[in-house]
Amino acid sequence: MPVELKQESAYSTAQHQFDLAADVLGLSENTRNLLREVKRELVVHFPVHMDDNSIELFTGYRVQHNISRGPAKGGIRYQEGLTLDAVKAMAMLMTWKCAVVGLPYGGAKGGVAVNPNRLSLSELEHLTRRYATEIAILIGPEKDVPAPDMGTTPQIMAWIMDTLSMHAGHSVPASVTGKPLDVGGSEGRDEAPGRGLTFLTLEALKYLHVQEETPTVAIQGYGTVGRSSARLMTEAGLKVVAVSDSRGGAHNPKGLDLEALEEHRKVRGGISGFKGGEDVTNAELLELPVTVLVPAAVENQITAQNAGRVKARLITEGANVPVTPEADRILHDRDVFVIPDILANSGGVIVSYFEWVQDLQAFFWEGEEINTKLHHIITRAFYEVLHTSVNKRLPMRTAAYALAVQKVANATLVRGVYP
Ligand code: NAD
Repeated sequence: MPVELKQESAYSTAQHQFDLAADVLGLSENTRNLLREVKRELVVHFPVHMDDNSIELFTGYRVQHNISRGPAKGGIRYQEGLTLDAVKAMAMLMTWKCAVVGLPYGGAKGGVAVNPNRLSLSELEHLTRRYATEIAILIGPEKDVPAPDMGTTPQIMAWIMDTLSMHAGHSVPASVTGKPLDVGGSEGRDEAPGRGLTFLTLEALKYLHVQEETPTVAIQGYGTVGRSSARLMTEAGLKVVAVSDSRGGAHNPKGLDLEALEEHRKVRGGISGFKGGEDVTNAELLELPVTVLVPAAVENQITAQNAGRVKARLITEGANVPVTPEADRILHDRDVFVIPDILANSGGVIVSYFEWVQDLQAFFWEGEEINTKLHHIITRAFYEVLHTSVNKRLPMRTAAYALAVQKVANATLVRGVYP
């Protein structure tokens, strides 16, 4: 795994990105101070009955960065070593993500410091229901609406929805998104991050006038985001030549057979050892000679150490914060086009928004309608960011932040300071 020598906190990195946009916009000191800080941060320590009759203590979080434009929205992550600092950074990112694509939401994030793979199904359910109860004081359709993120699934969202519904005494499907279809989930939600990434990758390849007949793609991370990206990009005519999970990956310059890979994963539980390609490490995957690189796993993968060796012409950020600020500058100097996380992976929250609207109206849409609406919203946002980037001569990330921060600043200013 690439390691950055100078480790900054995730939250100070998020604040640094915000500062760049605030400078471009000439934000006043007051507005800057307000938007630079999160609104609410809740830390909970709670016990869970384990299968061996022991009781284990876990730490969880829910942070709301800003709610000026609507209810807070953001995922729940189950990850070993998760910290308040990281959750605050991701909550801030959610505010900008919702704003840049024009959703009527603020930003939030939450999670539990746990490796979900070490829990049995019943331990996972107990942990989820207790965590949901602990953060219930903040959650609700009009207040704060969680969704899946790393390490969490539609089943976990169903348990959260059920727990909140038990407290209310009636079903509250709009309290969480990313649920299974049977309990008010939306068509297309599972694949939405990958679908959004695919739409924008195709738009960027057009804009960059990439001449290759079949552009090639390497994808780091093979979970909700990575797997759907691989499938949908292949369907769209791109050639996925490398994918990886936390234990390593597979590379085949002729293109990977994704169906055979699924069979291999079912038997082996991971990608390593796949016969349809050569083994490749996560670090090697990032430096492969491909047209498009999709980091879709964890933070800080492209750093000052490896950014100079990235060969892709385009990076579509599936993960949140996969590129460090130093690496960003190196990539910009090398003319690597980056579709930044808050725009690139917004397909998930866009379809979460559709799910919330459908739940509130108890009226459900067809998959085709969902995908058409997703395409419209995310493509419109892409061209807004691109025009700002070109007209103001800003990197795509700063342009995206500037558009988003302006919208949140406008809402904050017009609402005024209470009382
Ligand atoms: P997931 O848990 O479904 O999958 C994560 C994948 O990354 C797995 O294949 C895992 O093996 C791999 N991985 C974990 N650690 C790794 C490492 N150190 N190196 C390489 N691979 C590693 O998670 P996900 O929901 O696909 O989320 C991935 C990223 O996308 C996260 O940054 C998340 O915040 C972001 N994201 C998720 C959604 C969503 O709706 N799920 C939406 C937008 C953004």
